[in-house]
Amino acid sequence: MNVRQQIDPSTTHGLDLSEFSRGLYINGAWHASRSGRVIAVTDPSTGKIIASVPDAALEDAAAAVAAASAAAEGWRETAPRKRSEILRRCFDLMVERSEMLAKLISLENGKALRDARGEVAYAAEFFRWNAEEAVRISGEFGRAPAGTNRIIVDYEPIGVCVLITPWNFPAAMATRKIAPALAAGCTVILKPASETPLTAYALAALYEEAGVPPGVVNVLTTSTPGPLTAWMLADPTVRKLSFTGSTGVGRALLAEAAKNVISCSMELGGNAPFVVFDDADLQAALDGAMVAKMRNAGEACTAANRLYVQSGIYDAFAEGLRERMANLKVGAGTDDATECGPMITRKAVQKIDRLVEDATSRGARVLCGGTVGKGEGFFYPPTVLADVSPEAEMAHEEIFGPVAPLYRFETESEAIARANDTEYGLAAYIFTRDVARGLRVASRIEAGMIALNRGLVSDPAAPFGGVKQSGLGREGGQHHGIAEFMEAKYIATSF
Ligand code: NAP
Repeated sequence: MNVRQQIDPSTTHGLDLSEFSRGLYINGAWHASRSGRVIAVTDPSTGKIIASVPDAALEDAAAAVAAASAAAEGWRETAPRKRSEILRRCFDLMVERSEMLAKLISLENGKALRDARGEVAYAAEFFRWNAEEAVRISGEFGRAPAGTNRIIVDYEPIGVCVLITPWNFPAAMATRKIAPALAAGCTVILKPASETPLTAYALAALYEEAGVPPGVVNVLTTSTPGPLTAWMLADPTVRKLSFTGSTGVGRALLAEAAKNVISCSMELGGNAPFVVFDDADLQAALDGAMVAKMRNAGEACTAANRLYVQSGIYDAFAEGLRERMANLKVGAGTDDATECGPMITRKAVQKIDRLVEDATSRGARVLCGGTVGKGEGFFYPPTVLADVSPEAEMAHEEIFGPVAPLYRFETESEAIARANDTEYGLAAYIFTRDVARGLRVASRIEAGMIALNRGLVSDPAAPFGGVKQSGLGREGGQHHGIAEFMEAKYIATSF
């Protein structure tokens, strides 16, 4: 039985998924793959196949690069106001279709509908924000220090961009790249994750409706991302690689991009510390922990991965977190009541299970959860572990699941040293009533983003990104995100 024959229409929650799996989206049209192969898409809450998308061959990638290259000049010359209006229309359409998009995300990714709705709102906002930025790209003009001439600096679109995104935010990771790239005047080829391609294709149809010209955005899915990406990066018209995903793949792509000196933006893995001082507002810290840990069931690069709690508040925090985590409703993401959906794959569940077993074998106490249930779907229960050893593997690796490990600390300097004891540096969370201490600790923690007395950092209006091995460059923010898709051109005048 082939993949298409295995699809049971009753498993798609009223969505006609064939609409989002029409083909590769190249030059404004839907194409079958030249490989003739397909990639199966699974509902993580049942483990059943719900759709299939084409598995692009090298020739398809070549067609996508050719389309993006052919469209580049027209789009670059399109007036910023016109580009802005098209982006604004993308925002409006996303908002109009938000419920359908949220359902689709829930279905293929598994996340709870409430998280999916939040993602759609966040993802759409990148279009509104960049619609506003598109008309505010300015240059510089000044007199050379020697007084002999003037210096003009113009900002130009960098060129054709290859965008690669992960499965954990299928809409937002794509729009966080596409919107600034288009605002800057670039054309793009998006390669979404194989687990969650339907959202990317649903959005491609929406861009077209919003007036994005053929070839400006191309979307292709493939089971062989390595060779296809290497091929695309070797094309001389491709000038940018913007990647969001794991640090391991990011390192490999940086090496690949180096062969042709391609500009790279890298949004990579995290290992966020969540630091609670004795003087913190306990309820606010617990509220923050639930957001920082459980948004997307822990499948977020910004997820609190190590919860450091000072001795004086440790027991109360542990009990409060246990109570909240144990009472979460686990179920299919598409069920409106669900608070914690399934993990993306069985392999992800096995990894979490391995990390929890390792931690308990080193003395961690299970306060709730901790064992994989039986039955269909890729579920892992919300889990709190107390007294986790700093030697545990989960102290150094992304858990990417609903597991909150607690570590006890005594002093501020100890908390800072332990928070920084990682190769990652994406997000960090600090809870204290002492604002001066909060800012002091924030300045000493090695991370690109700090949340002070709150559990959420992401905001399209703020620069998102990491230091150390969490990445290079920023997305969103005033000028930051758009600057990743532009080159400065300096013109020296004769006067
Ligand atoms: P991943 O395995 O690195 O995959 C990310 C994307 O890269 C997917 O589209 C994947 O395609 C593609 N890919 C894999 N191998 C490739 C190769 N050799 N060449 C080119 N592309 C390749 O990451 P993931 O499991 O999808 O996502 C989870 C990771 O992303 C976590 O580490 C998380 O922290 C990170 N993340 C970071 C941010 C951030 O903003 N810093 C945001 C979200 C997620 P296939 O799906 O076809 O394998």
